[in-house]
Amino acid sequence: MNITKSIISLVALGLLSATIQFQPANANSSVIPTGCAGFEDLLDFVSEETGYPPLRSCPTVSVTPDFVLRSLFAKASAHGEEPMAAFIPASAEILLSPNVDITKLLGRSYLVHEFVHASQLETGVKAPATCLGLLESESYWVQAAYLRKHGLNDEALAFELVSMMQSACAHPYHR
Ligand SMILES: [Zn+2]
Repeated sequence: MNITKSIISLVALGLLSATIQFQPANANSSVIPTGCAGFEDLLDFVSEETGYPPLRSCPTVSVTPDFVLRSLFAKASAHGEEPMAAFIPASAEILLSPNVDITKLLGRSYLVHEFVHASQLETGVKAPATCLGLLESESYWVQAAYLRKHGLNDEALAFELVSMMQSACAHPYHR
């Protein structure tokens, strides 16, 4: 993978997904009918890595057409990046791009990332207003840990770097 390009796009998406507040266009989504069934290993991993209690309620996971994700993330898309996944706090819903293959480790790592956000919400963890990136930082760090655990070290490194940038609160990456 092109690590530099990926980092830039992920930072942009991270900043946007941390503040996204609106409802997705449900009419254009398809819900994965199994809910969290089949994702138990990911939920266990998130709980073990973060120390958060296991999620009591599983977020709805919807595969959302790219054009809808792009409209939700218009700012990032304007730079040519493709949104891959998002967590919508208002509806506790995870949106996945059709390009995310949840049968593959990389695809599942995006679910790990969003499950961390769901755990943050359920646990009531809040980032200080001056460093909203801390929530993203944690999600990227756990996503990286998942990839590293499974030997995808290049991908893990990219997400580790994004995590570090997200937590650099006084840094221009946040502007
Ligand atoms: Zn995130």
